[in-house]
Amino acid sequence: MTTLPVALTLNAGSSSLKFSLFDISGAPTQMAIGLVENIGKQPRLKADLGEALPAVARELKPEDAVDHTAALATVLALLRGSFPGAKASVVGHRVVHGGPHFAEPMVVTDQVMAELKRLSPFAPIHQPHNIAGIEAARAAFPEALQVACFDTAFHRHHPKANDVFALPREYYDKGIRRYGFHGLSYEYVSGELKRIAPQIHAGRVVVAHLGNGASMCGILGGRSVASTMGFTALDGLPMGTRCGQVDPGVIFYMVQQEGRSIDEVRDIFYTKSGLLGLSGISNDMRILESAGVPEANEAIDYFVFRIRRELGGLAAALGGLDALVFCGGIGENSRKIRRRICDAMDWIGLELDHDRNDKNARVISTDFSRARIMVVPTNEEIVIARAAKRLSAMPEAAAAE
Ligand code: ADP
Repeated sequence: MTTLPVALTLNAGSSSLKFSLFDISGAPTQMAIGLVENIGKQPRLKADLGEALPAVARELKPEDAVDHTAALATVLALLRGSFPGAKASVVGHRVVHGGPHFAEPMVVTDQVMAELKRLSPFAPIHQPHNIAGIEAARAAFPEALQVACFDTAFHRHHPKANDVFALPREYYDKGIRRYGFHGLSYEYVSGELKRIAPQIHAGRVVVAHLGNGASMCGILGGRSVASTMGFTALDGLPMGTRCGQVDPGVIFYMVQQEGRSIDEVRDIFYTKSGLLGLSGISNDMRILESAGVPEANEAIDYFVFRIRRELGGLAAALGGLDALVFCGGIGENSRKIRRRICDAMDWIGLELDHDRNDKNARVISTDFSRARIMVVPTNEEIVIARAAKRLSAMPEAAAAE
């Protein structure tokens, strides 16, 4: 049997492991995508294995995904059974935090691994799971190259004024900086703009990544200038369960006046706030859109209000606006939210074409709109697969292993 060179991409969350398989014999093409969710509890496996094979959606035995290592073994059994000729020579990992120095994807050496562990306190909710995913993959594929791709990397060239908080200087040196996240998504969208609309790519673009996690990024000539997320993936826009921007004084109040522990406050900010907290109903935009009750509407009102406000701020940072681009589950699918964000935005040059918006077209602004409005479905996995292929083709990368 001939072997097919493939790259496996992994995105390990707190209780989930998302995976994709790419044929990398030419430009990476996706062969399979899926996830194990509810790891450590009542795990489920879902996978789309391409047109030739049936999709998978089944409950797993708890021991099949008791942790990330077991979940990866389950995924590998599925992929090996489905694609017997495929040989993974490289595994690409989504890693949330690359700290001040990792501005590019890196081959994971022991030294890089040590640095990723050192960065864990910067992203305590995400980084340990990303590291667990890398460790599981290293054990499962000792001979494969492991490549780490960072959500912070796209933003590492922010101008200094947008990299700092107005705290005593020593904190900047300690790494307390405005990192920004969702960088793999922004890199993909920016790359797509370069391909399909090069004159827009060369200009002033705001990308709104609106999913369960949500942020916006101001991009000038393909480079991130400012983003709504800061030191952690908590800042900026309200999200499914995360609060977005709040006055830090609220933390002091909760701790000092309400007697809450820091862990409780963190839990409130990360898991009980955002759309869920405001509505008291759900973190899921589809449910809120169809709920038709004042609490759900208020949560949506706040979401839209913050996006519109940040759009103005990012356009100011860019010195104007040539395009607003939507991506993420809400940005790609919710006509209503896009319409409300763009309503009466002609002052900034945006004029929505309602018909195009209702059809989920790629360009949804009118022909007369001064700035273009677009929908570009994001694909973080392919950014990882491309980096994995690129680094595995570099002799010094192989030597680093
Ligand atoms: P994640 O950040 O977990 O990758 P997604 O990008 O998949 O999240 O986005 C999930 C969000 O997208 C959910 O709030 C979901 O309700 C919303 N969404 C998906 N499809 C639609 C739709 N047709 N209309 C409104 N919201 C949608």
